[in-house]
This record gives sequence, structure tokens and C-alpha cells, in this order.
Amino acid sequence: MCPRPAIPLNLPSAVTNDPDVFFPVGRILCIGRNYAAHAAEMGDHSRQPPFHFVKSPWALRSDHGEITVAYPPKTQDLHHEAELVVALRHGGRDISPEDAHRHIWGYALGLDLTRRDVQAQAKQQGRPWAAGKDFDGAAVCGPVSRVEATGELTEGTLTLTLNGERRQTGELTDMIWNVREIIAYLSSLMTLQPGDLIYTGTPAGVGPMVPGDVATIGLTGLPAVTVRMTDPL
Ligand code: MN
Repeated sequence: MCPRPAIPLNLPSAVTNDPDVFFPVGRILCIGRNYAAHAAEMGDHSRQPPFHFVKSPWALRSDHGEITVAYPPKTQDLHHEAELVVALRHGGRDISPEDAHRHIWGYALGLDLTRRDVQAQAKQQGRPWAAGKDFDGAAVCGPVSRVEATGELTEGTLTLTLNGERRQTGELTDMIWNVREIIAYLSSLMTLQPGDLIYTGTPAGVGPMVPGDVATIGLTGLPAVTVRMTDPL
């Protein structure tokens, strides 16, 4: 007899730049304050150890072409955070920075969408960030490009343009913790798994997105990603 699942479970997946290949997503691990200028705009002026938070895989919104996200409930101040996303091919624990790049399947451009008002209240109350960070559409992810095609991405200019105006600009070389160090850090805390996505932090210039806004995320070496915010569902 063939065992049957008790309930149907459709695990989310990200699209890739090969239309016939999708990338199944396990955890979504997000690094906070990884560019000095953004840390400063959030009130943090010192070099701190890395920290992270988690979004559930069902927060993922991934598509080819223009990605649409419905404005989420329970916020009056939704912010865009443009980020380089790293998709893991291999898991592991206590991965060294020297070996970390071998665990990368590919890269994408995405948005760590944030209910800034909810997050600010959580910070003030000393509560978790979950309600500010984890909701439908909170993890926007463009097509994942294989590392074999891009090479290891260690430099380039990450940008976000909102309705044609440049809002965010940062150099990957200005990351406080680089991608290899991030993988090493996360793998010291938990066993990483194939299918984990890592959002690597956002440069300065975060700000609100409202219905009707169109954001374009760019980085040297990756195809640009366009995101349209639509009315609440
Ligand atoms: Mn972020």
C-alpha cells in the first residue's frame, strides 16, 4: 500500500531563468542591516555581528516578467527593500566562508517587503518582527539565475527605481557581511538546507510603496526585475 499525505501540501517555488526549471523554496532567511548606510538610516551607527529573521515560504511571490503584489493588510507604511537573493543548492552546518560559495545554486533580485509601522511598534515593545516581515507577497523574488551563468557575484551596483526615480543604490562590496560570511554565519546557527533562500540585506534609501507603484530592481550581471503594487485584495 502506498502511503498518502494526510493533507495536500503545495510547497512554494521560485521561477528560474530557464522556463522549464523551478527552484523549490524551503526557508526564507533574511539578513538585517547589512549595508552601513542603511543601518545608519535605521539608527544603527556601529558595526554589529550579523543577525537574521525568517519569512515563511508562503510569503514568496516569484514570477517571470512583471511581478504583482497586492498591498497587504494591517499597515499604513509598506516599505521596499531591494536585495540580492542567494538560492542554496546544498545544505550543511558549520560551513566555512572558504567553502560557502560551493553551496550556491544561483542568484535573484528581490524585495524584502516590510510593514515598517508594525516593525517599529514591535521594536519599541521588544517583540518579534514576524508581523512586520512575514505576510502574503512579503518575499518578492525574480527569476533565479544559475551561478554557472553568472559566476560568483561579489561586486556590482544594486539599485531600486520607483516610478522611474532612483531610490536605492548600493555596492555589493559595501556589504558589512559578504555572501560567504552570511552562509557561514547562518550555518553556525542551524543546518542549512537545499532550497533555502537568503535575502542578503538592503542598501540605503528604503521607503514606502503604495498601490499603483512600479519598482525596478537592478544589479550588474542579473536581469532587472519589475514589481507592481496593486490594490489590497
Ligand atoms: Mn531586508
